Amino acid sequence: MNYPTRLFIDGESRPAADGRTLPLVNPATEAVLTEVAMAGIRELEIAVAGAHRAFEQSWRDYTPGRRSEVMFEIARVLRAHAEELAQLESVSIGKPIADARDEVAMGARTFEYYAGAITKFCGQTIPVWRGGFDFTLRQPMGVVAAIVPWNFPFPIATWKVAPALAAGNCVVLKPARQSPLTALRLGELAHEAGLPAGVLQVLAGAGPEIGDALVQHPLVRKISFTGSTAVGSRIMQLAARDIKRVSLELGGKSPNIVFADSDLEKAASSSPLSVFGNTGQDCCARSRVFVERPVFQKFVDLFVAATQKLVVGDPASESTQLGPLVSSQQRETVEAYLPDATAPHLQLLCGGDRPARPGYYLNPAVVIGCQTTDRIWNEEIFGPVVCIRPFDNEADMLAEVNASPYGLSGSLWTNDLKRALRVARRVQSGVLSVNCHNSLHVEAPFGGYKQSGLGRDLGQAALEGYTELKNVYIAD
Ligand code: NAD
Repeated sequence: MNYPTRLFIDGESRPAADGRTLPLVNPATEAVLTEVAMAGIRELEIAVAGAHRAFEQSWRDYTPGRRSEVMFEIARVLRAHAEELAQLESVSIGKPIADARDEVAMGARTFEYYAGAITKFCGQTIPVWRGGFDFTLRQPMGVVAAIVPWNFPFPIATWKVAPALAAGNCVVLKPARQSPLTALRLGELAHEAGLPAGVLQVLAGAGPEIGDALVQHPLVRKISFTGSTAVGSRIMQLAARDIKRVSLELGGKSPNIVFADSDLEKAASSSPLSVFGNTGQDCCARSRVFVERPVFQKFVDLFVAATQKLVVGDPASESTQLGPLVSSQQRETVEAYLPDATAPHLQLLCGGDRPARPGYYLNPAVVIGCQTTDRIWNEEIFGPVVCIRPFDNEADMLAEVNASPYGLSGSLWTNDLKRALRVARRVQSGVLSVNCHNSLHVEAPFGGYKQSGLGRDLGQAALEGYTELKNVYIAD
């Protein structure tokens, strides 16, 4: 396999000026895959200046229709390279190949959605009291910094890059240290598809090293970030000085609420993947399960049985559902949450052990007996660990659901329509799925309440977030 190992700046792949590289490790084998160039402050300056130049000299003056054509072409080229992109994602972060293929397809669909959406993105004419003619314009901001994590590298990059470009901005994309390959290919392929040089720059490297400079760069007008709440909070503080625009998609500890009147078999058989999918490294992981007491034991038995059927294994195999964790350090962080002698009230019903094979694998763990003060119940673990607790009444359950500082996602299972509507209104989260676990659609807004974030990716809402709203008034 050919790995893209150089930075993508001003329409060409180039090494870091000081020659520094970072090793990329395949988490399924623990072997070094390749070395990837590591951007420093020098490359950051060149990339931001180039993006600003491209904005002023070309991209902002493309009509929406012309931008749309380029973006449809990018989607076509991405689809033509879908298998290559899926393989790159799978080997670099241990993502099961079937999931990687779905995510690449979603990335291409994201470009198609915004290629179409930008030609229907309208302002208003406003009947102002004074008479004359008043109308609004949606204008691009300039250079946008897109900082993305390692768990869904390709789709999340497209969720930011596609609407930002469609709206007429230029983008400096910074993938996570662990997952630069598909971002670098995105830069190259978009350029091949006709995106002018500089409009999309891709800087692989370490966040803590170039992050502050990128966020504070005077030519960067907006920072669109997905990652941990701690880094998101720092970015918001740094952005505050110059009142930069930010959108933040952060952590989560999402509920899965199961009422006794629901289709229990369906809820229990589908719920393990809602938390263990992507080996639990999912901001939307439904890691706190609330089950109405009369069906608690039955649900737990079904959930454990379904968990034990999940196929943990080689990400390259078509049948694999769970690959390894992204790194040895991530596995150790997750293991520190597992029940041990210091918490005798916690019961580990299955998993939590390392399969006997190389790679950073961990079998999915089901835990009961949690108290609401336990770390395992309250903190984002970002690994294959779920806690299941019974509840006795709706009001108490909702109080506990909403006690979390997070509010990203969640699922609700009931066959009572009135209850579904009532509870859906009360749960404090940016997205919620009823009688399923699908909360992500390219066409619909995605983001969090409270410490799960600010602003929205996807849908029409994201386009609004990459523009400034201008009101123009023409006197009679
Ligand atoms: P992270 O915050 O450590 O890193 C995210 C990105 O920020 C990476 O590109 C990293 O290099 C960069 N970064 C690190 N330090 C930085 C700094 N000081 N300044 C600027 N950039 C910096 O998060 P992660 O470990 O890569 O991802 C896991 C987290 O992301 C979890 O908390 C998860 O819930 C969250 N996440 C949220 C969503 C969502 O849509 N809400 C989606 C995926 C992941």
